[in-house]
Amino acid sequence: MSKLISLIIPVYNESKSLAALHKALSLVLPTLAYDFEIIFVNDGSRDDSVAEIVKLQNFDNRIKLLDFSRNFGKEIALTAGLNNCVGDAAIMLDADLQHPVELIPEFIAKWEAGAQVVVGVRAKNSKEGIIKRFGSKIFYGIISKISDTKITPNATDFRLVDRVVIDEFNRFTEHSRMTRALIDWLGFERDTVVFQAAPRFAGEASYSVCKLIKLALSSFISLSLLPLKLAGYLGLFIIFTVGPFGLYVLLGKYFFHWPFASSFSGPAQLAFLLLFMVGIILSALGLISLYVASIHGEVIGRPLYVVKKNK
Ligand code: UDP
Ligand code: MG
Repeated sequence: MSKLISLIIPVYNESKSLAALHKALSLVLPTLAYDFEIIFVNDGSRDDSVAEIVKLQNFDNRIKLLDFSRNFGKEIALTAGLNNCVGDAAIMLDADLQHPVELIPEFIAKWEAGAQVVVGVRAKNSKEGIIKRFGSKIFYGIISKISDTKITPNATDFRLVDRVVIDEFNRFTEHSRMTRALIDWLGFERDTVVFQAAPRFAGEASYSVCKLIKLALSSFISLSLLPLKLAGYLGLFIIFTVGPFGLYVLLGKYFFHWPFASSFSGPAQLAFLLLFMVGIILSALGLISLYVASIHGEVIGRPLYVVKKNK
Protein backbone atom coordinates (compact mmCIF):
# COMPACT_ATOMS: atom_id res chain seq x y z
CA MET A 1 0.00 0.00 0.00
CA SER A 2 1.38 3.39 -0.85
CA LYS A 3 1.80 6.07 1.75
CA LEU A 4 -0.79 8.77 2.20
CA ILE A 5 0.14 12.42 2.06
CA SER A 6 -2.23 15.15 3.20
CA LEU A 7 -2.20 18.51 1.48
CA ILE A 8 -3.46 21.25 3.76
CA ILE A 9 -4.63 24.39 2.03
CA PRO A 10 -6.02 27.38 3.97
CA VAL A 11 -8.54 29.30 1.92
CA TYR A 12 -9.71 32.84 2.49
CA ASN A 13 -11.48 34.49 -0.43
CA GLU A 14 -9.65 32.47 -3.05
CA SER A 15 -12.47 31.47 -5.39
CA LYS A 16 -10.54 32.72 -8.40
CA SER A 17 -7.44 30.67 -7.63
CA LEU A 18 -8.96 27.35 -6.63
CA ALA A 19 -9.62 25.87 -10.07
CA ALA A 20 -6.13 26.80 -11.26
CA LEU A 21 -4.63 25.38 -8.08
CA HIS A 22 -6.48 22.11 -8.54
CA LYS A 23 -5.40 21.94 -12.14
CA ALA A 24 -1.76 22.47 -11.17
CA LEU A 25 -2.10 19.77 -8.51
CA SER A 26 -3.64 17.30 -10.92
CA LEU A 27 -0.60 17.70 -13.16
CA VAL A 28 1.85 16.94 -10.36
CA LEU A 29 0.17 14.42 -8.09
CA PRO A 30 -0.35 11.61 -10.66
CA THR A 31 3.41 11.54 -11.28
CA LEU A 32 3.95 10.46 -7.68
CA ALA A 33 3.53 6.97 -6.23
CA TYR A 34 1.58 8.17 -3.21
CA ASP A 35 -2.04 8.52 -2.21
CA PHE A 36 -3.18 12.01 -1.44
CA GLU A 37 -5.90 13.70 0.53
CA ILE A 38 -6.48 17.35 -0.21
CA ILE A 39 -7.86 19.26 2.76
CA PHE A 40 -9.21 22.70 2.04
CA VAL A 41 -9.77 24.70 5.20
CA ASN A 42 -12.20 27.46 4.35
CA ASP A 43 -11.38 30.23 6.81
CA GLY A 44 -14.71 32.09 6.64
CA SER A 45 -14.39 33.25 3.05
CA ARG A 46 -16.86 35.90 2.01
CA ASP A 47 -16.78 34.97 -1.67
CA ASP A 48 -17.88 31.71 -3.25
CA SER A 49 -14.77 29.71 -2.39
CA VAL A 50 -16.90 27.01 -0.76
CA ALA A 51 -19.03 26.56 -3.86
CA GLU A 52 -15.84 26.32 -5.85
CA ILE A 53 -14.43 23.62 -3.57
CA VAL A 54 -17.69 21.65 -3.67
CA LYS A 55 -17.55 21.83 -7.43
CA LEU A 56 -14.05 20.36 -7.40
CA GLN A 57 -15.17 17.66 -4.97
CA ASN A 58 -17.59 16.39 -7.62
CA PHE A 59 -14.82 15.03 -9.76
CA ASP A 60 -12.06 14.53 -7.21
CA ASN A 61 -12.99 12.41 -4.22
CA ARG A 62 -9.65 13.07 -2.51
CA ILE A 63 -10.85 16.56 -1.61
CA LYS A 64 -12.08 17.24 1.91
CA LEU A 65 -13.52 20.51 3.13
CA LEU A 66 -13.25 21.94 6.61
CA ASP A 67 -15.58 24.90 6.61
CA PHE A 68 -15.04 27.43 9.42
CA SER A 69 -18.03 29.39 10.74
CA ARG A 70 -16.08 32.63 10.43
CA ASN A 71 -12.58 33.91 9.77
CA PHE A 72 -10.16 32.59 12.39
CA GLY A 73 -6.90 33.40 10.63
CA LYS A 74 -4.43 31.32 8.68
CA GLU A 75 -2.58 30.03 11.73
CA ILE A 76 -5.74 28.46 13.09
CA ALA A 77 -6.73 27.17 9.66
CA LEU A 78 -3.39 25.36 9.36
CA THR A 79 -3.83 24.00 12.87
CA ALA A 80 -7.27 22.66 12.00
CA GLY A 81 -5.83 20.98 8.93
CA LEU A 82 -3.07 19.32 10.95
CA ASN A 83 -5.57 18.25 13.61
CA ASN A 84 -7.78 16.59 11.03
CA CYS A 85 -5.41 15.06 8.51
CA VAL A 86 -4.66 11.35 8.49
CA GLY A 87 -1.63 11.20 6.18
CA ASP A 88 1.80 9.78 6.94
CA ALA A 89 2.97 13.30 6.25
CA ALA A 90 1.27 16.61 5.56
CA ILE A 91 2.23 19.43 3.24
CA MET A 92 0.87 22.90 3.90
CA LEU A 93 0.57 25.27 1.00
CA ASP A 94 -1.14 28.53 0.13
CA ALA A 95 -4.17 28.54 -2.12
CA ASP A 96 -3.00 31.50 -4.18
CA LEU A 97 -0.36 29.46 -6.10
CA GLN A 98 2.47 31.43 -4.50
CA HIS A 99 3.86 28.15 -3.24
CA PRO A 100 4.81 26.27 -6.44
CA VAL A 101 3.17 22.85 -6.42
CA GLU A 102 5.84 21.54 -8.82
CA LEU A 103 8.13 21.37 -5.80
CA ILE A 104 5.95 18.84 -3.97
CA PRO A 105 8.06 15.92 -5.32
CA GLU A 106 11.18 17.59 -3.93
CA PHE A 107 9.60 17.96 -0.49
CA ILE A 108 8.60 14.31 -0.53
CA ALA A 109 12.06 13.19 -1.69
CA LYS A 110 13.69 15.04 1.23
CA TRP A 111 11.17 13.49 3.59
CA GLU A 112 11.93 10.01 2.26
CA ALA A 113 15.62 10.81 2.73
CA GLY A 114 14.99 11.18 6.44
CA ALA A 115 13.93 14.77 7.14
CA GLN A 116 10.90 14.98 9.43
CA VAL A 117 10.32 18.66 8.70
CA VAL A 118 10.98 20.05 5.25
CA VAL A 119 10.80 23.83 5.20
CA GLY A 120 10.18 25.90 2.11
CA VAL A 121 12.57 28.83 2.18
CA ARG A 122 11.73 31.77 -0.04
CA ALA A 123 14.49 33.00 -2.29
CA LYS A 124 14.88 36.76 -2.28
CA ASN A 125 11.77 38.24 -3.77
CA SER A 126 12.50 41.66 -5.20
CA LYS A 127 8.88 42.27 -6.11
CA GLU A 128 7.82 42.38 -2.48
CA GLY A 129 7.13 45.84 -1.12
CA ILE A 130 10.02 47.55 0.63
CA ILE A 131 8.06 47.84 3.87
CA LYS A 132 7.34 44.11 4.01
CA ARG A 133 10.90 43.23 3.12
CA PHE A 134 12.43 45.63 5.63
CA GLY A 135 9.88 44.60 8.24
CA SER A 136 10.65 40.93 7.87
CA LYS A 137 14.36 41.64 8.17
CA ILE A 138 13.80 43.49 11.44
CA PHE A 139 11.45 40.78 12.66
CA TYR A 140 13.89 37.93 12.05
CA GLY A 141 16.75 40.00 13.43
CA ILE A 142 14.96 40.65 16.72
CA ILE A 143 13.39 37.23 17.10
CA SER A 144 16.66 35.37 16.55
CA LYS A 145 18.26 37.49 19.28
CA ILE A 146 15.56 37.26 21.91
CA SER A 147 14.13 33.81 21.43
CA ASP A 148 15.52 30.37 22.23
CA THR A 149 13.73 28.84 19.25
CA LYS A 150 15.85 28.87 16.13
CA ILE A 151 13.93 30.39 13.24
CA THR A 152 15.28 30.42 9.69
CA PRO A 153 14.83 33.79 7.95
CA ASN A 154 12.47 33.62 4.96
CA ALA A 155 11.20 30.25 6.14
CA THR A 156 7.57 30.01 5.07
CA ASP A 157 4.51 27.99 5.92
CA PHE A 158 5.12 25.98 2.77
CA ARG A 159 6.39 22.88 4.52
CA LEU A 160 6.09 19.18 4.95
CA VAL A 161 5.77 17.59 8.36
CA ASP A 162 6.04 13.93 9.23
CA ARG A 163 3.27 12.11 11.12
CA VAL A 164 5.45 12.08 14.27
CA VAL A 165 5.68 15.88 14.09
CA ILE A 166 1.96 16.24 13.44
CA ASP A 167 1.12 14.16 16.50
CA GLU A 168 3.44 16.27 18.66
CA PHE A 169 2.03 19.47 17.14
CA ASN A 170 -1.47 18.38 18.03
CA ARG A 171 -0.51 18.47 21.71
CA PHE A 172 -0.16 22.25 21.68
CA THR A 173 -3.07 23.94 23.39
CA GLU A 174 -2.12 27.60 23.19
CA HIS A 175 -4.62 29.88 21.47
CA SER A 176 -2.39 32.63 20.21
CA ARG A 177 -0.02 30.81 17.91
CA MET A 178 2.17 30.96 14.86
CA THR A 179 2.13 27.53 13.30
CA ARG A 180 5.58 27.62 11.76
CA ALA A 181 7.16 28.87 14.97
CA LEU A 182 5.59 26.02 16.91
CA ILE A 183 6.90 23.52 14.38
CA ASP A 184 10.34 25.10 14.76
CA TRP A 185 10.00 24.84 18.55
CA LEU A 186 9.43 21.11 18.24
CA GLY A 187 12.81 20.49 16.68
CA PHE A 188 13.22 17.23 14.67
CA GLU A 189 15.34 16.49 11.64
CA ARG A 190 15.01 19.38 9.22
CA ASP A 191 15.79 20.04 5.62
CA THR A 192 14.93 22.92 3.32
CA VAL A 193 13.68 23.50 -0.18
CA VAL A 194 14.43 26.90 -1.69
CA PHE A 195 11.75 28.31 -3.91
CA GLN A 196 10.91 31.44 -5.82
CA ALA A 197 7.56 32.74 -4.66
CA ALA A 198 5.31 33.27 -7.63
CA PRO A 199 3.14 36.37 -7.74
CA ARG A 200 -0.32 35.90 -6.32
CA PHE A 201 -2.54 34.18 -8.91
CA ALA A 202 -5.70 36.20 -8.25
CA GLY A 203 -7.25 38.37 -5.61
CA GLU A 204 -5.37 40.29 -2.96
CA ALA A 205 -3.02 39.32 -0.16
CA SER A 206 -5.09 39.49 2.97
CA TYR A 207 -2.13 40.04 5.23
CA SER A 208 -1.83 43.78 5.42
CA VAL A 209 1.19 45.40 7.01
CA CYS A 210 -0.95 46.08 10.06
CA LYS A 211 -1.96 42.42 10.41
CA LEU A 212 1.67 41.37 9.94
CA ILE A 213 2.80 43.70 12.73
CA LYS A 214 0.17 42.17 15.00
CA LEU A 215 1.37 38.68 14.10
CA ALA A 216 4.99 39.71 14.71
CA LEU A 217 4.13 41.15 18.13
CA SER A 218 2.18 38.10 19.15
CA SER A 219 5.04 35.83 18.13
CA PHE A 220 7.52 37.95 20.09
CA ILE A 221 5.31 37.45 23.09
CA SER A 222 4.79 33.75 22.59
CA LEU A 223 8.40 32.93 21.73
CA SER A 224 10.23 35.13 24.18
CA LEU A 225 9.77 36.52 27.66
CA LEU A 226 12.17 39.37 27.05
CA PRO A 227 9.49 42.00 26.35
CA LEU A 228 7.90 41.13 29.67
CA LYS A 229 11.13 41.46 31.57
CA LEU A 230 12.18 44.69 29.84
CA ALA A 231 10.69 46.97 32.51
CA GLY A 232 12.57 45.10 35.20
CA TYR A 233 15.90 45.41 33.40
CA LEU A 234 15.32 49.12 32.90
CA GLY A 235 14.51 49.50 36.60
CA LEU A 236 17.69 47.69 37.64
CA PHE A 237 19.71 49.82 35.25
CA ILE A 238 18.30 53.01 36.78
CA ILE A 239 18.86 51.82 40.33
CA PHE A 240 22.45 50.84 39.69
CA THR A 241 23.36 54.03 37.85
CA VAL A 242 21.33 56.70 39.63
CA GLY A 243 21.70 55.09 43.06
CA PRO A 244 25.49 55.33 43.46
CA PHE A 245 25.59 58.72 41.78
CA GLY A 246 22.88 60.07 44.08
CA LEU A 247 24.73 58.70 47.07
CA TYR A 248 27.92 60.34 45.85
CA VAL A 249 26.17 63.72 45.54
CA LEU A 250 24.49 63.37 48.93
CA LEU A 251 27.67 62.46 50.82
CA GLY A 252 29.85 64.83 48.81
CA LYS A 253 27.60 67.83 49.30
CA TYR A 254 26.51 67.47 52.92
CA PHE A 255 29.36 65.58 54.55
CA PHE A 256 32.62 65.94 52.65
CA HIS A 257 31.96 69.20 50.75
CA TRP A 258 33.47 67.98 47.48
CA PRO A 259 33.21 70.82 44.96
CA PHE A 260 31.70 68.81 42.09
CA ALA A 261 29.10 67.16 44.29
CA SER A 262 28.24 70.50 45.90
CA SER A 263 27.42 72.04 42.52
CA PHE A 264 24.15 70.05 42.29
CA SER A 265 21.15 72.19 43.15
CA GLY A 266 18.19 71.12 45.27
CA PRO A 267 15.90 70.45 42.26
CA ALA A 268 18.65 68.37 40.66
CA GLN A 269 18.84 66.24 43.77
CA LEU A 270 15.09 65.93 43.77
CA ALA A 271 15.25 64.74 40.15
CA PHE A 272 17.75 62.06 41.15
CA LEU A 273 15.54 60.97 43.99
CA LEU A 274 12.51 60.72 41.72
CA LEU A 275 14.45 58.81 39.08
CA PHE A 276 15.70 56.44 41.75
CA MET A 277 12.11 55.85 42.89
CA VAL A 278 11.08 55.16 39.29
CA GLY A 279 13.89 52.63 39.19
CA ILE A 280 12.49 50.91 42.26
CA ILE A 281 8.98 50.85 40.83
CA LEU A 282 10.17 49.42 37.52
CA SER A 283 12.19 46.71 39.24
CA ALA A 284 9.16 45.83 41.31
CA LEU A 285 7.22 45.51 38.03
CA GLY A 286 10.02 43.32 36.75
CA LEU A 287 9.66 41.12 39.81
CA ILE A 288 5.95 40.77 39.16
CA SER A 289 6.67 39.98 35.53
CA LEU A 290 8.76 37.00 36.64
CA TYR A 291 5.65 35.57 38.24
CA VAL A 292 3.53 36.47 35.21
CA ALA A 293 6.10 34.73 33.02
CA SER A 294 5.87 31.60 35.05
CA ILE A 295 2.05 31.74 34.97
CA HIS A 296 2.24 32.24 31.18
CA GLY A 297 4.45 29.17 30.90
CA GLU A 298 2.08 27.07 32.97
CA VAL A 299 -1.04 28.30 31.21
CA ILE A 300 0.08 27.62 27.64
CA GLY A 301 1.14 24.19 28.91
CA ARG A 302 3.66 23.32 26.22
CA PRO A 303 4.80 19.70 26.25
CA LEU A 304 7.67 19.26 28.69
CA TYR A 305 9.73 17.35 26.18
CA VAL A 306 9.46 15.92 22.70
CA VAL A 307 10.69 12.41 21.96
CA LYS A 308 12.21 11.94 18.54
CA LYS A 309 12.05 8.17 18.39
CA ASN A 310 11.10 5.55 20.92
CA LYS A 311 13.31 2.61 20.09
N1 UDP B 1 -5.57 32.87 4.57
C1 UDP B 1 -6.43 32.29 5.51
N2 UDP B 1 -7.01 33.10 6.46
C2 UDP B 1 -6.74 34.44 6.51
C3 UDP B 1 -5.85 34.99 5.58
C4 UDP B 1 -5.27 34.17 4.62
O1 UDP B 1 -6.68 31.09 5.48
O2 UDP B 1 -7.29 35.12 7.38
C5 UDP B 1 -4.95 31.99 3.55
C6 UDP B 1 -5.07 32.50 2.11
O3 UDP B 1 -6.24 32.04 1.51
C7 UDP B 1 -3.84 31.90 1.47
C8 UDP B 1 -2.82 31.90 2.59
O4 UDP B 1 -3.57 31.95 3.80
O5 UDP B 1 -4.06 30.57 1.05
C9 UDP B 1 -1.84 33.05 2.49
O6 UDP B 1 -2.54 34.26 2.50
P1 UDP B 1 -2.04 35.54 1.70
O7 UDP B 1 -1.75 35.18 0.31
O8 UDP B 1 -3.07 36.60 1.94
O9 UDP B 1 -0.71 35.92 2.50
P2 UDP B 1 0.76 36.17 1.95
O10 UDP B 1 0.91 35.46 0.64
O11 UDP B 1 0.90 37.62 1.86
O12 UDP B 1 1.63 35.56 3.03
MG1 MG C 1 -0.17 34.87 -0.83
